[in-house]
Amino acid sequence: MATKIPPDQIVIRPPVEAYSVLIPVTGGCSWNKCRFCGTYKGVYGVSQDYAIRTLEDVKKDIDKYAESNYHGFPVFLAGGNPTSAPTDYLVEIIKYVRVKLKNVPRVSCYAKALDVLRKSDEELKAIMNAGLDIVYMGLESGSNTILRIMKKGTNAESMIEAGKKILNAGIKLSLYIILGLGSHKYSEEHVKETARVLTEINPTIFRFRTLNILPGTPLWDEWKSGEFKLLSPLENITEERNIIANLGENVTSQVFNDHVSNYCTIESSNIKVDREMFIKTLDSYINDPKIQNLPRKNLIRM
Ligand code: SF4
Repeated sequence: MATKIPPDQIVIRPPVEAYSVLIPVTGGCSWNKCRFCGTYKGVYGVSQDYAIRTLEDVKKDIDKYAESNYHGFPVFLAGGNPTSAPTDYLVEIIKYVRVKLKNVPRVSCYAKALDVLRKSDEELKAIMNAGLDIVYMGLESGSNTILRIMKKGTNAESMIEAGKKILNAGIKLSLYIILGLGSHKYSEEHVKETARVLTEINPTIFRFRTLNILPGTPLWDEWKSGEFKLLSPLENITEERNIIANLGENVTSQVFNDHVSNYCTIESSNIKVDREMFIKTLDSYINDPKIQNLPRKNLIRM
C-alpha cells in the first residue's frame, strides 16, 4: 500500500513547463479512474487523494516565490485538474500571481473536460480576464470506444464542447493525444475519430505522446497477460501520420512531439501550412528500414 501524501507533494507538469514556477493548487485528480494513468495511485511509490489546497497555503507559496525573486518566469498552477476548483478561488489565485510576480509571460494549468463543462461561459471569461493564458487537456483519443474502454469519463462530444468553450472564452487550448491507445483493434477508429475531433475543435496546439504502460495501472495487468498489445514504433508513427492526413482543411493548430515517449520530434507552427512537409517527413520515417526494425520499449518512468 503506497503512503498517502499531502496535495502539494506530487507535482506533475507538461514538458513545456519544465522551467516554470510550479504552484500546486489541487492535489490528486478529481476523476482518478483512467486505466492508463497511475500518477496519483502509487506509481511513484506514494499516492494522493483529490484535494483543493487552502487559499492561504497557495498564497504563501506565491509570496515565497515573490520574496525569492522568481519574476519573469511562466507560472504553472499544478495539480491534476485545477479547473475543478471554484471559479472565485481560481480567479483570486491567478490575480494574486499577476500582482506578486512581475513580468509573468504565461499562466497555465491542466484541465479536465467535465470540470470545464461545469463552468459557465462567464466563469471561464472571468478566469481568462484574471490572467489564465492556456490550459492543457487530455483528449487522448477522439474515439468513444477507446475513451469508454480506458474509462476517461468523458466522450468525444463533451471534449468538443469543452474545447470550444475554452477557446471561446479567449483561453488557449493544448490537447494531448496518446498514440497506440486503441492498440491494433481500434487503431483505425483512433485515427479517424481523433482527426474528426481535432477538426471540430481546431485547438491552439495539439501534442502527441506514445502509450507506455506503467506498473500499478489497470492496463499493466492486461498488457502483462497479453490481452492488450502495444503498437510498434512504426505503427505509432503511422497512426500520427494518418491523423495528420485526416485533418480538415480548417485546422491551423501548432503541433508538437515534445514528450520523451515519442519516436519522432517534428513540429509545426501551423499544420495547415506544414501538413505536406509533416506527412512527407513521417513517410520518410515509415519507409526507413531502421525504423521498421526498431524494437518497442515500454518506458516505466517518464
Ligand atoms: S484525468 Fe488525468 S490525472 Fe486524472 S486519472 Fe485521467 S489521466 Fe490521470
